[in-house]
Amino acid sequence: MMRVLLGVLLLSGLAACQRAPEVHQHAFFAFGTLVELSVADVDPQRAAEAAEAVEQVFQEYHRLWHAWHPGPLADLNRALAAGQGAYPDPSIHLLLELAAPLAERSGYRFDPAIGGLVRLWGFHADTPPQGPPPDAEALRAWRAARPSLADLYWDEGQVFSRNPALQLDFGAFAKGHALDQAIARLRALGIDHAIVNAGGDLRAIGRRPDRPWRIGIRHPRAPGVLASLQLEDNESLFTSGDYERYFEYGGERYHHILDPASGAPARGTTSVTVLHSDATTVDAAATALFVAGPEHWQEVARAMGLRHVLLIDAAGVAHLSPAMAGRIRFETDPPPPVRLGEPLP
Ligand code: AMP
Ligand code: MG
Repeated sequence: MMRVLLGVLLLSGLAACQRAPEVHQHAFFAFGTLVELSVADVDPQRAAEAAEAVEQVFQEYHRLWHAWHPGPLADLNRALAAGQGAYPDPSIHLLLELAAPLAERSGYRFDPAIGGLVRLWGFHADTPPQGPPPDAEALRAWRAARPSLADLYWDEGQVFSRNPALQLDFGAFAKGHALDQAIARLRALGIDHAIVNAGGDLRAIGRRPDRPWRIGIRHPRAPGVLASLQLEDNESLFTSGDYERYFEYGGERYHHILDPASGAPARGTTSVTVLHSDATTVDAAATALFVAGPEHWQEVARAMGLRHVLLIDAAGVAHLSPAMAGRIRFETDPPPPVRLGEPLP
């Protein structure tokens, strides 16, 4: 928690040095993180309406999509496990529609049907798990069942699962979708210049009065910022990192980004940052590319239609797509060793 807070403080510190009085700020907690809204080029009354609207979006989705607290998602998971059909909440229906093509294009490396596995590893809890890792037999049973989003089907508005081991967990892209909905709400209020930053994951529209929005990318292994970049109109930037939620056991780090193929935390990567227009896609993509790792990230990026990717591998090497190399500036001295990928179309 301390590390997360430190990261947020450093990132917001970067923003604070550059803050101009015309930018209205509002901050609140949701999805287990600090969410900061900055709105430019509006009067204080409109800025207050914007703050209320954005906070409402996040609090509402936090309640509707919670993976382990009682609520609509827990109800749906219970029905699916019992082999029953259910009419999901409209927001969950939309999430499922958005997730299906993203999961397929990622080769099911991003797969929100792996809630049962996330639970086995102890991450369905309000405090980080302590270990030990799950029992080998339980993991084997999960791998044998291997639920996937492709096991869902629809019949007259009801959703069913062919696989009773399927449990939905939207943790890998819920924050992204909430950001997209928040930006849609801001646009409906006539706001053209804003940034919503949820613990370093963000979407921006327009620009500040004086210059474009600038943001920092967190260093996965040291306090502070690894790189910075300037955002263009309507861009989202998300980072998935092995430092966000993890436990150490027997000298090994077990983190929360799981490889559905192995049933264990994905190895070989420490963080992945993706830049793209919509936040739902980048959030899902950052998780998928983390699982893909240094060997396979380029093929998955291509399949998901991404151009801007930064992947830090377990040895600290920065794998960069050429388009991303043209956008970021490393802030560490010395900068990390870089391996440039092939151009992504
Ligand atoms: P993120 O921080 O966006 O990469 O999302 C990680 C969260 O998504 C975890 O805490 C789990 O709840 C869930 N998750 C972990 N691994 C996967 C995966 N391979 N596909 C979909 N969701 C995942
Ligand atoms: Mg994600």
